[in-house]
Amino acid sequence: MQGFFERVKADFDWIKFRVGHKFAFRAPRTVFFEDYRSESDVLKKSVQVNNGAMLKKGVQYNPNSTEQIFYLLLFHEIGHAVLGHKDFLTDVERLKMERAAWEEARKFCKKYDVFYDEDRVEREMDTYRDWLHSRSVCKTCGLTRFQTLDGQYHCPRCNEILGIMGKK
Ligand SMILES: [Zn+2]
Ligand SMILES: [Zn+2]
Repeated sequence: MQGFFERVKADFDWIKFRVGHKFAFRAPRTVFFEDYRSESDVLKKSVQVNNGAMLKKGVQYNPNSTEQIFYLLLFHEIGHAVLGHKDFLTDVERLKMERAAWEEARKFCKKYDVFYDEDRVEREMDTYRDWLHSRSVCKTCGLTRFQTLDGQYHCPRCNEILGIMGKK
C-alpha cells in the first residue's frame, strides 16, 4: 500500500517538497514541511487515520491528531502553490492570500478525506490578524497607521506633523 504522503506528492509532482523547520511556501513551487522523528511511522498512522473505509466502520479518530494537523497545514502550503502566490507587498494582500490558501486546503481535505479543522484554521488566521495589527500600530503615538501599495506604513498623525515641520 502506497503511503498517503507519497500519494499527495505524486498528485502534486510539480511541487518541490522539502523538510523545513516549519510549514512554509516559497514561490514559485517549494513547500516546506516540518520533520517528524519517524516519517514512516507518521505515514503508517496517516494511512490509518485517512482510510475512509475505517471511518465508515465508525472507527474513531482524534481530529487533533498529529497526522490530521500535518496534512491540514501541508494542504494550506500546497494551496499557496496551486494559486500561484508570489511575494505580497501589503499586509491586507497577505491576509487575502492566507484566506485563499485555506480555502484551497478545504478542497484538498475533502478530496483526501482529511478533517478540515475550522477552529484550527481560524486560530491560524487570528495569528495573521494579530501580526497585522501589531505592525499597523504607530510606535510613537499608538494610532493605527495605513500601508501604501509600496508596503510602507504611514501614521496619519505623525506623518502630518513631520510634513508640517518639513515645510517650515
Ligand atoms: Zn499561508
Ligand atoms: Zn503616530
